[in-house]
Amino acid sequence: MRIQLTEILSADGQALHREVPLERETMEVGAERFRLFEKSPVTLDIVHTAAQVIEIEASCKVSAKIPCGRCLEEVDVPFDLHIYRKADLKESDEARAQELNEGNFIIGTELDVEQLAYNELLVQWPIRVLCQEDCKGLCSRCGANLNHGECGCDRTSLDPRMAAICDIFSECKEV
Ligand SMILES: [Zn+2]
Ligand SMILES: [Zn+2]
Repeated sequence: MRIQLTEILSADGQALHREVPLERETMEVGAERFRLFEKSPVTLDIVHTAAQVIEIEASCKVSAKIPCGRCLEEVDVPFDLHIYRKADLKESDEARAQELNEGNFIIGTELDVEQLAYNELLVQWPIRVLCQEDCKGLCSRCGANLNHGECGCDRTSLDPRMAAICDIFSECKEV
């Protein structure tokens, strides 16, 4: 969703309050893509303080499905976004993009709400998620999820030749 800012830019001190839906369905982090759900509307308060400088406050709740770092089961991770940004619209989009250490959320006189939320999500994105503190992970031999029970494999002494066979086996299984 994009918000047109021309009206509040027409005079100093103008303010705008809006609630808009977060349209993005997925979050891209590196080469990976995660599904977003339980999205609340984005609450926006934008003030044109003076001389084409605007202050943006936004908040939004959203959850993401992120695989557990050990067993790969999807975990529901909630995010509570509170965003504050200041932007000088006298600057060109290019100049602003260079200053910001994140994707530009203002294009011309439009506020890109999706980009604003994306930037904040990226900051808060966890490096690693676990489904539970003591997640047992996957069996290194058969790939079974050990949280669901013991698979019966002997993992105490992994013969290197057997390990190689296991790797081939798990690779085959993924195809
Ligand atoms: Zn897990
Ligand atoms: Zn096993």
